[in-house]
Amino acid sequence: MKKIIIAIDGYSSCGKSTLAKALAKKLHYVFIDSGAMYRAITLYFIQHKIKTHHENEVAEALKHIHLAFEFHPETEQNNMLLNGINVEAEIRNMAVSAKVSEVAAIPAVRKFAVAQQQQMGRLKGIVMDGRDIGTTVFPQAELKIFVTADPAIRVERRFKELFAQNKNITIEDVKANLEMRDYIDTNRTESPLRKANDAKELNNSNLTKEEQLNIAYKWAMETTHQK
Ligand code: C5P
Repeated sequence: MKKIIIAIDGYSSCGKSTLAKALAKKLHYVFIDSGAMYRAITLYFIQHKIKTHHENEVAEALKHIHLAFEFHPETEQNNMLLNGINVEAEIRNMAVSAKVSEVAAIPAVRKFAVAQQQQMGRLKGIVMDGRDIGTTVFPQAELKIFVTADPAIRVERRFKELFAQNKNITIEDVKANLEMRDYIDTNRTESPLRKANDAKELNNSNLTKEEQLNIAYKWAMETTHQK
């Protein structure tokens, strides 16, 4: 069957990565979490105290960043490697979440990440999730899904996830972080978050993971047969 590119975009904590991962598995496609790349770049910037408003410093730092994904068959986890080191756990912490949207709004950072993402999709057979996948990274993607969910549900889902690792986290912290990231992601000049005109909207507020997967899989099958 002909392979396609599937772009999954949406606001923070809509369950995009969970859906993208499950869909890729079912289709035997590659799954790429583009947010993990921005998070790894942010972690490097934090570790090296890079000033985000300093263009030369940012450009120099990017020269020293090598990103790669490593698939672990046992956990079925695609681990993010930053300069060869597995940073999968570290990039999910609050310090990175608090800064990632600021870093992701820097034009040089986007150029750096987008070029690598486009390279990953050259053979198709890929499901990539993020904010600008259907609009900027793969405007030619055969299937574009824009995931939405009720804000209160998104906060609750993210809180449960983070609380499991850190009991000091409060629901207010999570809410503030999601609101801030949504705001920056939607209002930045460089490829802001928006629904592509030809994207199908999937509101998953009241859907189970399995129901969402079934809908997305059906869309993928329909698209594959049409193309
Ligand atoms: O998907 P995730 O929430 O892990 O992404 C972290 C951050 O990376 C987002 O809040 C957003 O600022 C940025 N991002 C982006 N473009 C993408 C993916 C993520 O700007 N394609």
